[in-house]
Amino acid sequence: MSAIAETPAISIVEVGPRDGLQILKSILPTAHKKRWIAAAASAGVREIEVCSFVPAAVVPGMADADEIVRYARTIAGLQVIALAPNVKGAAAAFAAGAHKVTMPISVSVQHNLANIRKTHAQSIDELRRVIDLRDQQPKASRPAVEIGLSTSFGCSIAGAVPLEDVLRLAEKCLATGADHVTPADTIGIANPAQVKRVYAALYGAFGKAKIGGSHFHDTRGQGMANALAALEAGVTSFDASLAGLGGCPFAPGASGNICTEDLAWMLEEMGLSTGIDLAKLLACRDILKDGMPNEKLSGHLAEVGLARTQSGGRVAAAR
Ligand code: ZN
Repeated sequence: MSAIAETPAISIVEVGPRDGLQILKSILPTAHKKRWIAAAASAGVREIEVCSFVPAAVVPGMADADEIVRYARTIAGLQVIALAPNVKGAAAAFAAGAHKVTMPISVSVQHNLANIRKTHAQSIDELRRVIDLRDQQPKASRPAVEIGLSTSFGCSIAGAVPLEDVLRLAEKCLATGADHVTPADTIGIANPAQVKRVYAALYGAFGKAKIGGSHFHDTRGQGMANALAALEAGVTSFDASLAGLGGCPFAPGASGNICTEDLAWMLEEMGLSTGIDLAKLLACRDILKDGMPNEKLSGHLAEVGLARTQSGGRVAAAR
């Protein structure tokens, strides 16, 4: 191993158009979603979870999922991700051209039953059907299937979630054919020490290549500390949401995912390249303000701006 630390390429995955929007009362118009996705890509975001293929009766804001994926696929170089809770959603996501489908399965059985009305055995059966369908796609353009291991760090219903349960479900998902699994802090209850334990265990059991990335919510204000702990554990891919969009059904007023622009600033200031132009990224917030004037936007960087940086303005400089 080289003694000289290499600068890893960090990927920030914008999940706001899915995780951020799905819980809001406001519906962001389709045209605004397209502008946001295009603007984020133009700011250097290379992966975006653009929508969720769920019934419009359940989540009215995702009724345009097919149109959004097809639009996002026209943006060169952009990795287009869609969430699908079942084989019906996955089929629609594959047909629209998603590069990757994320399927949530909660480590907590109670949460899985409440969220997608399935036992673990039923979820694994559903995953098997999704994998069969994936394997029928043309090899050259075959999408990836990633499992979001919801409630990996704690559950709003069951309480503490044992690490052995995370490992057991991860093992089942990978054995069934999932390309990756990602532990998700669905309710924003993780702490940095736990984050390091969970990643060390997952990397040790399955190898780094099988663990997708990270997914933190900032419900208790620990999101950035948890992201830093994940970084130190070796994680190089981070889900985040512009303006910390979203929320938590169990904590009214709480912010949603960790804030994309604050995370990008931290990583860039640490000397890690995200490929993101922060000024352009901050400007994306105007699209949200315009499309959803009643929604609260979070984020510290937006409050203070880019005028002062430890790196002498490197991150704000034109690229
Ligand atoms: Zn989430």
